[in-house]
Amino acid sequence: MPGTWENIKQGFHFRGDYFIVDAHCHVDCPAVASPKPFGVQDLIGVMDSLGIERACVNLSHFPDYAQANERAMASVRQYPKRLFGIAVASVYAPHSDVDRVRRCIEELGMRGIKVTARWDSESLMPPVSSQTAGLEEIYQLAMRWNCPVICHGYLTPSIARRYRDVQFILTHALEDWASAESYRKCENVHFDTSASFFPRASIAHFVKLFGAQRIVFGSDMPLIDPRVPLGVILSAGISEHDKERILGLNMARLLGLEAG
Ligand SMILES: [Zn+2]
Repeated sequence: MPGTWENIKQGFHFRGDYFIVDAHCHVDCPAVASPKPFGVQDLIGVMDSLGIERACVNLSHFPDYAQANERAMASVRQYPKRLFGIAVASVYAPHSDVDRVRRCIEELGMRGIKVTARWDSESLMPPVSSQTAGLEEIYQLAMRWNCPVICHGYLTPSIARRYRDVQFILTHALEDWASAESYRKCENVHFDTSASFFPRASIAHFVKLFGAQRIVFGSDMPLIDPRVPLGVILSAGISEHDKERILGLNMARLLGLEAG
């Protein structure tokens, strides 16, 4: 019996006219409801079947972030025209990650930074302020290199205002309408569409609140089936141009890409 990802490739072929960029993917990690780890070939296979042209990969599920970044770049080197590497930095030890993130961007050509907690016991503790001060160095780097910062939590409206030249992407934000609302005036804060709880009305609601230019398609595959956010966006009661922006044009702009 084929696994989940085989089913996606076989059972759903979306080939629309949209330029689609997935802002939020993982590789080399366990896949929910699949017996095998989700590798880069699986990712490319799913992208091909769903018409996803480009994808940003980060390995924030790895306990060792140095290894995570190396492995992300190994995937990018295999598919340099399809994938972009996103360097990961820990909210708990950003000082020690700064030099590594700098190298990821300056030497390895990574195109963004993800700030997150590791998937271990650390993530049960809130970061202390002396540690989070190191995040400011990460934001300075992002400003210098004009690359987006993807935040799995740990962003506040005041930080977003202080670094208004940095383009932030909040993951899973469409699940929590109330906290998203606190970023309404922060034009540099964007929301990705990865969500485990995703009413169809979310997209139209967010477009009305924030404008389509602040929403980016991000699936979080293989943890979330990318057909869910894709289907929700494609069927949303919004204009064709807004769909184009959410599906790819906004992320292309944040990555400094030419669409097409
Ligand atoms: Zn994720």
